[in-house]
Amino acid sequence: MKKAERKVRSSTWTIRTAWLMVSMLFITYGVNSFTCSAESLVKKTAQEAVMTPSQPLPKRMAIIIDDAGNDMKGTAEILDMPVKLTLAVMPFLSTTKKDAIAAHEKGMDVIVHMPMEPKSGRPEWLGPGAITSSLTDDEVRERVEKAIDDVPYAIGMNNHMGSKVTSDKRIMSIVLDVCRERGLFFVDSRTNFRSVVGELAVSKSMPPVGNDIFLDDRNSKPHIRQQMDLAAKRAVEKNMCVVIGHVGQTGLNTSSVVRESVTRLKGEIEFVGIGDLVREVWHWHAAPTLPTNNK
Ligand SMILES: [Zn+2]
Repeated sequence: MKKAERKVRSSTWTIRTAWLMVSMLFITYGVNSFTCSAESLVKKTAQEAVMTPSQPLPKRMAIIIDDAGNDMKGTAEILDMPVKLTLAVMPFLSTTKKDAIAAHEKGMDVIVHMPMEPKSGRPEWLGPGAITSSLTDDEVRERVEKAIDDVPYAIGMNNHMGSKVTSDKRIMSIVLDVCRERGLFFVDSRTNFRSVVGELAVSKSMPPVGNDIFLDDRNSKPHIRQQMDLAAKRAVEKNMCVVIGHVGQTGLNTSSVVRESVTRLKGEIEFVGIGDLVREVWHWHAAPTLPTNNK
């Protein structure tokens, strides 16, 4: 009986020892494998973080310079700017082609600066080939087509003056149709807060791009500097800002403040052409439906 008891006890001990060893092995490997998978999880997360860093959106500013094409004061200084700008060139003038070609060769964007009737102002400020509210549908179409043909390398259009015409749905609808057919977008200079351009653009699946800030609505360096700072603040807050300055009467003040400001803001703001914004922000790609001579 004692012998049998000893045998049972010894086999119980053997079973217990074996069970204990199996458990220890399991715990060791179990913990190890948990540790490994936890480690690999950490490694994987770190790797993913490296592969997909949370990049802040770039703060972009597009500076459009209006009224080029008539041998205007400040044009050479604008063309010599160390960042990408957009030159809005008026059609049918003495340096239309020269300015557009020079801007294109400098890597800048070129747009047609289309003269349009204002509510008030001298007719001679309009320039040749202007769009006025008395024109027929066919005349509007013809004038827009000719203007696009006259400005080499134009990828878009904005309005020169136009406080009257940009609130006229009939005319602006034709202007936008011609732009779209020719692969151009339209930038509303926003000379009239009742402009219909934005809503028309959306209805025609075009980018509703418009001016946010006029840089030189007053011809003084402190004012232009203040407007550039306002534009930079807007670009930081909204990730983008479109501004308009001029050559001509304000030309040298504008070009000098723009140069000084872009140098100062270069690390903070990315200066882009209006075409870059239209492609990257509104994801718009030109799809011309008519042949163009504009090359
Ligand atoms: Zn203008």
